[in-house]
Amino acid sequence: MTTAEKATSESYFVSRLAETARRDEIAAPCTIDSLTKALGSYLPEKQVAQVRRAHDYAANAHEGQYRRTGHPYISHPLAVAMILAGMRMDHQTIMAALLHDVIEDTAVAKSTLGNRFGKQVAELVDGVSKLAIMFESRAEAQAENFQKMALAMAKDIRVIMVKIADRLHNMRTIGVMSREQRQRTARETLDYYAPIANRLGMHNIMVEFEDLGFAALHPLRAESIRRRVEKARGHRKALLSKLHQSIQASLEAEGIEATVTSREKHIYSIYSKMKTQQKSFEDIMDVFGFRIVVNDEDACYRALGIVHNLYKPVVGRFKDYIAIPKINGYQSLHTTLFGMHGVPIEVQIRTTHMAEVADHGIAGHWLYKAREEKTRGGQRARRWVRDLMELQQRAGNPLEFIDSLKIDLFPDDVYVFTPKGDIMELPRGACPVDFAYAVHTDIGNHCIACRIDRALAPLSQQLESGQSVEIITAKGAKPSPDWLSFAVSGKARAGIRQSLKNQERAESIMLGRKLLNRSLTNAGTSIKELDFRRLRRVFKEFGVRKLDEVLQAIGHGEVMAYAVAQRLLAADDSNYEAVPVEHEGPMAVHEGEGLVVTYGRCCGPVPGDSIVGHMTQGKGLVVHMETCKNMREIGRRNPEQTIPARWAAMTDQEFTTALRIEVNRKQGVIAELAATIAAVNAGVDRINVEERDARVSSVVVVITVSDRIHLARVMRRLRAIPSVITMRRTHQ
Ligand code: MN
Repeated sequence: MTTAEKATSESYFVSRLAETARRDEIAAPCTIDSLTKALGSYLPEKQVAQVRRAHDYAANAHEGQYRRTGHPYISHPLAVAMILAGMRMDHQTIMAALLHDVIEDTAVAKSTLGNRFGKQVAELVDGVSKLAIMFESRAEAQAENFQKMALAMAKDIRVIMVKIADRLHNMRTIGVMSREQRQRTARETLDYYAPIANRLGMHNIMVEFEDLGFAALHPLRAESIRRRVEKARGHRKALLSKLHQSIQASLEAEGIEATVTSREKHIYSIYSKMKTQQKSFEDIMDVFGFRIVVNDEDACYRALGIVHNLYKPVVGRFKDYIAIPKINGYQSLHTTLFGMHGVPIEVQIRTTHMAEVADHGIAGHWLYKAREEKTRGGQRARRWVRDLMELQQRAGNPLEFIDSLKIDLFPDDVYVFTPKGDIMELPRGACPVDFAYAVHTDIGNHCIACRIDRALAPLSQQLESGQSVEIITAKGAKPSPDWLSFAVSGKARAGIRQSLKNQERAESIMLGRKLLNRSLTNAGTSIKELDFRRLRRVFKEFGVRKLDEVLQAIGHGEVMAYAVAQRLLAADDSNYEAVPVEHEGPMAVHEGEGLVVTYGRCCGPVPGDSIVGHMTQGKGLVVHMETCKNMREIGRRNPEQTIPARWAAMTDQEFTTALRIEVNRKQGVIAELAATIAAVNAGVDRINVEERDARVSSVVVVITVSDRIHLARVMRRLRAIPSVITMRRTHQ
């Protein structure tokens, strides 16, 4: 074929497309009367009346507008509404369909629609309009705005349903569009709308999208396949009816009520099979397809047995989508048989309800089914959205409205993005720690900070849908017990608890080892030098079996290191005389030791203060200031429980302590205190003000500092404030 001929023939098909588009039954397939008649079959009269009002309003708003087909504009919203009526959508959806171009194309505001037709209808119309805008401005640069917009729209799946019906009618009338418009719209339909319809399980609509899109994009190829199908149909006719009869008869013979239909692949699927699987047209068309629809699930399996008896099944081709439905909710039994003369027969067996879902997809679930079905439908919907996301990523082109779909469909969950753009589903109220554990337990266990939408944020911050979250981890970092106060997901909470348990155990053992060694040093020995095989029986006295368990019990404050040391030494040497407590050397306290070393809230020691330790059952070592009143009390009563301590290696940890400050009452003085503390890089945890009298207030400030020198600097600055009368360290 020469180029000239090709152009001629292509223009021939294009003009035929345009002709089709202008036909009344395509461009303007219904009137308000035929629409309301259709609605009357499943909607109450009152709702039908509301639909009529919406129509009158839309007709008025579009008055004087015409479509390229030459029909009054209202013919389009009517056609869209009729498509949705065919899916038995509710009256609000139908109303939104009638009004769907009103905001976009006329001067009507969303609020006006809200006042007239209710918030829900207005939201639906608004959602459809925004989707339209979004499809037009798919610029990467606008991704951010895009996302915000996406979050605000598509309040529910019905927006998508209206959009799909809208696109369907536009595709049916695509022939009147300009060449450029036609190709762009067709591409978009094949790339986005058909897969979405497929994921929603709306098979009939997907087929129509594909065939219309294909014909508009490649009119010649589509036409050539259509002709070959027609021709092949003639050759196949006799064999087809023979097969049909034999299947029908054998089902009847077994008393199974069934509708048997033959089915043909649609043009676009033949084309893509030829293209992607490199199959010849004949190979594809040589397969005969039948569908058997029966009354119940049980009959499906019985029918399967019957056809397997009738013709030999092809090994490995049987698929049970009843037991394991497809992502979009599709259920059926699939099998392939060798028919007479060895022709392959593909058979699908399903119930009436399954057939409904197979054709109409999500609409089949959402519309006619009662509440119990709803949850199953919801789960399916959840799955298809997830699948849709994958699809989008493969396409490499962000369709953010899908995200909004997720958000609005399932408001109990929060959906956030990983740095790679993957979607994580988290329970409402989740924070970055939940996110970290959702990614991986190791990430959770080692996270130290995070970025939300690229800005540093606290690990406790509640996440909102649409945010992007990045976790910063550090080797050797560990979960903090505080996390349990804000992590909400089961996975995170379990992970934190497990890690704390391990951590605490390891730290208890370490502390126990330190404490026991300290006690043993006084007797001139150490853990290493003791022969624990001989000392096993001593363990029994403490109710443990292994050294680690003894150390853990010591570190945890359940038994005294001193007591254990005495027992071990006495057991080894019958002449052993107890070493006095006072002789034990000081314990080195490492800052930020974590779980089994804590700091007394009564005195708030900071590095540099003289300190003593105190073993508290279940808490491990609690470090106090030497001057702490509580400690002096304990020291008097149980001197063996106090442990001389000193600060060891410095880190950059923050310590909490409190100051009591008497100030002259004066406006702004508290702010001045806080500003002064902040100016020397100390943190303010909280400020409590007690009013003494008309002149003086007593203020307790809980601050965080790095050490005693830092604290002294804070106090010096505070003293310099004229309103400050006195100041001293205090309990928190
Ligand atoms: Mn429209």
